[in-house]
Parts: sequence; structure tokens; C-alpha cells
Amino acid sequence: VSRFESITMAPPDPILGVSEAFRADTHEMKLNLGVGAYRTEELQPYVLGVVKKAENLMLERGEFKEYLPIEGLAAFNKATAELLLGADNPIIKQQRIATVQGLSGTGSLRLAAALIERYFTGAKVLISSPTWGNHKNIFNDARVPWSEYRYYDPKTVGLDFDGMISDIKAAPEGSFILLHGCAHNPTGIDPTPEQWEAIADVIQEKNHIPFFDVAYQGFASGSLDADASSVRLFAARGMELLVAQSYSKNLGLYAERIGAINVVCSSADAAARVKSQLKRIARPMYSNPPVHGARIVANVVGDPALFNEWKEEMELMAGRIKSVRQKLYDSICAKDKSGKDWSYILKQIGMFSFTGLNRAQSDNMTDKWHVYMTKDGRISLAGLSAAKCEYLADAIIDSFY
Ligand code: PLP
Repeated sequence: VSRFESITMAPPDPILGVSEAFRADTHEMKLNLGVGAYRTEELQPYVLGVVKKAENLMLERGEFKEYLPIEGLAAFNKATAELLLGADNPIIKQQRIATVQGLSGTGSLRLAAALIERYFTGAKVLISSPTWGNHKNIFNDARVPWSEYRYYDPKTVGLDFDGMISDIKAAPEGSFILLHGCAHNPTGIDPTPEQWEAIADVIQEKNHIPFFDVAYQGFASGSLDADASSVRLFAARGMELLVAQSYSKNLGLYAERIGAINVVCSSADAAARVKSQLKRIARPMYSNPPVHGARIVANVVGDPALFNEWKEEMELMAGRIKSVRQKLYDSICAKDKSGKDWSYILKQIGMFSFTGLNRAQSDNMTDKWHVYMTKDGRISLAGLSAAKCEYLADAIIDSFY
């Protein structure tokens, strides 16, 4: 008898489990709209041209493989903070930002969660309802209490702005408010600039600490600056805030696990202390981060020609997603004679669309149509091609009614 007899089988991950089910399906029309990974029009994984060029440069230079410092590659940390806030942001000159390279967005969120657990005992993190499924796991495992604020309004398939504001207001003073910097996952619904200002107002009023998750900078709109505008708006108010960054989507570096945790503080002294403690948390967790992705980012951002090429490729990716979004909407409208207003699909941004399909309807999408998606009704448009829009429209209409 095994010493591990008391360990029960864990359920499959709700997002990554979808890909496992997809692989097991042999139907020729099967479509994987579960995981958020960019595909070409041929539905193949895509390595950015700038990434290949940066990797070639790295090979030519014969760069070493020795350990990075605990906080990561200095050139990466500098580049990532500048991309986030803008290179000429006074916060950077004032050295008020503590940046530590993390294991992509997830690992960076996890480091921040450990910092909260250690230094803000009892403080709560407020997360949007709904949110990216892993947020709850991250805070649970870090033993950080969390609760939800209203975000999505099923009646309008839009933002429940009043609910959001009143829940943030009602939270205990000094709570951490987790916000998606752009392209909210899973809904694709973002606050307007005026709404962001109002959100910042209540957060300031209640002495809360904003905690941004920025997983799609440049990938949502095609513009690095536009997609960071929410964070910059808060930072410009002089607020202290946390930002987790990821290069999985915007540079297509999913498996390289490259991202960062940034803590903007009110003084250089506080930033230095926060950084020292983040390093102290990272050391026994994984010691130091991987170098490959960090060098790619540093090379791309540090070379004006590569940087421009990256922006072009990001616009291309964002543009392809926007065009299949439009095509899916057009196909649904042409087929659906019920008069239902589907315009919410066009209003959403980023790689996902929240279809408004419930769990049973999402099951029908998979069981009958072989369309793999998460059970909350989210589809990844990055996994859709123009050629498959008609088929998907048929599946959605059939499942809806
Ligand atoms: N945060 C959000 C909202 C996401 O959608 C994702 C990825 O899907 C992540 C964080 C983290 O991804 P990664 O750990 O690959 O950077």
C-alpha cells in the first residue's frame, strides 16, 4: 500500500484541461478556443520574427548561462519598467519603482501575494467577478484572503460599473484592489478612461492599494502606450501601486516564463526596502529566474530597429484578432434571425470574447460542435481563423437557442 494513499486525484485545470480534451478529440472540425495563445490564420503557433532575430543575436554573442542575480537581468528590469510607465516617467528617475523579474505573469503575481501575506497581515485582496481563474488559486496558495467585487453585468454583457464602485467603497480600508490593466480576462470588457478616473478616486478615498495585472500590454489595442494608460493614470496621481507584467502574449514568449513584479512606492528608500524583501521571498522559492526570455526582451526593447519591428508584429496580431472578431459578429448577425443584439462582441477588446453562453450552452458547443472553450462562455479569438468563423457562428447560434 502506498504512503500516498490519502492523496486524492486533483481535478483537471479548467483552462489547461480544455487543451487536453481537445487533443483527445479526433473530429475534423474541432476547434480549440480554450487557452489564450495566439495562432496564425492557419491556426499554427507563432514565433515572432523579432524573437528569432534576438535569439540569433544571443547565439552570435555566445552569451553565458551562469545564474542571474535574484532580482533578474538588470537590462530587462530597466526595460520592463520603462515600457510600463514610459521611459521619461519621473517615477523611474526618482527610483521609486522596485522591479523584480518574475516567472511570467503568474510567478510575478505569486511573489506579490507572498509580500502581501508577509507584510500586510489580514489585508484582503479584492478581485473582479469574474476573473482569470488562476487569481483565486494564487491568493489561496499564498494564504491571502480575497473577496470579489462586481464587474460583469450579464444583462448588458457589459461592465457593472456602479456595482464595482460600491464594492470597492465597501471594502475594508487599505485593501488591495486587483485590476486588469487592459483587455479584462475573461470578459474583454474594460472601463472607459472616465471610469478609470472614478475607480482611482474611490481607491484613493479608501486608502486602498491598486494591484494591476498587465498580461496584454500592446496586444490588446496594438499600442504599448494605450494599453498601459490605466496604470499610468494611477501612477500619475502619485499613488503607490503594484503591477505584475507578462510577456507571454505580447512577445509570444509563453514557455519562457518572463515577466516582472513592479512596486511603485512613494520614496526611493521604500522602493529599495520592498525590492530587498521581494528578493528574500524569491530566493527560497526558486532562487533566481531564467535568463533566456529576459535577454530576448532586453534585446528587442534595447534595439530601435527590433523595437519598431516588434510594434509592427504586435499590431498585426492585434489586427488579426480584431478582424476575426468582426467576421464572427457579421456571420452571427447574418445567420440569426431573432433580432438579438450581438454588438457586445464588438465592444469587447483583447484576445477573448465573452459570448454570454452559460455552462450548459458551452457544453453543447463542445459536445455537439467540437468547439473547446472554458465553461464560463469565454472563447479565445486568437485561436480562431477567418475560415472557421461561419462554423463557429452556427455553433454559437445552435447553442444559444
Ligand atoms: N493574468 C491574466 C489576466 C492572464 O490572462 C494571464 C494569462 O493568461 C496571466 C496573468 C499570466 O500568464 P503568464 O503566467 O503566462 O504570464
